[in-house]
Amino acid sequence: MKQTTIKKDILFEGVGLHTGSNIKVKISPAFPDTGIRFMRVDVKNSESVAVSPYSVITTQLATGIKCGDFPISTIEHLMSALYGLGVDNALIEVDGPEIPILDGSSKPIVEMILDAGIKELGKNKKFLKVNRRIRVDLQDKWIEIIPSRFFKITFGIDFNHPLLSVQKKFVNVTAESYVNDIARARTFGFKNEVESLWKMGLAKGGSLENAVVIGEEGVLNPEGLRFEDEFVRHKILDLVGDISLIGYPILGHIRAYRSGHQLNNQFARALIESTDCYSLVEMGEEHSDTEKELVLEPQGVVWS
Ligand SMILES: [Zn+2]
Repeated sequence: MKQTTIKKDILFEGVGLHTGSNIKVKISPAFPDTGIRFMRVDVKNSESVAVSPYSVITTQLATGIKCGDFPISTIEHLMSALYGLGVDNALIEVDGPEIPILDGSSKPIVEMILDAGIKELGKNKKFLKVNRRIRVDLQDKWIEIIPSRFFKITFGIDFNHPLLSVQKKFVNVTAESYVNDIARARTFGFKNEVESLWKMGLAKGGSLENAVVIGEEGVLNPEGLRFEDEFVRHKILDLVGDISLIGYPILGHIRAYRSGHQLNNQFARALIESTDCYSLVEMGEEHSDTEKELVLEPQGVVWS
């Protein structure tokens, strides 16, 4: 199985969740072994930086990295879309301090990537194959990975809210299941928390256009939910994005309970550092049945 990149440049713009200002993004094809690199193009002396769990400088509300001397926040949905579709190499140029929030999910980015197309490159893809369990606890939250031939996630959430208490979801993460079951799930927040963020001058770009907001009576968004369990699906979307910073597709089953950006990042670091618990492998053609070519048709995603 070969490394991939996108076939042509992708350009998009939109409101940043934190600043509320309009930000432009360009994603360009990249050579094998480039990985995913970010670059701020609105500042002098900027350089492109390869993402890793160690480039993360904030996990408050979103995952933000240090790019040279400058921050880029809210990278997780874009990273999740690239990983979900199996894009290994790309350069992402941003003209501001965060990636636009778009509709709060990774669906718009997934559609743009599928529209641009994904191409194979001349070098083999390396997978991080987990051989032994790795676990990280943070108070009552935990996350672990156990060996599996595929990349699987089981996620459980438990909020103290009548509308959103326990949700649990299992996904065998392939490009197909990512597009159909995960990408459309939007970020969410509770009304009282959103209001206090606004009072503090945070989440200026946040609105019902890009987040599911939960009030005491129910979901405030007039269009309702995209999935009955949209919340746990979005937690999986975030986890895929946060764990993708390790730079390799994973063969293993992640099980997480109430994890968020902070614990996801701690876990990504623990995973990389547990060198005795995994090996880096190349996959033969016999496993290629998990990868198919994605084609976006006007009526939606079809598979060939
Ligand atoms: Zn998110």
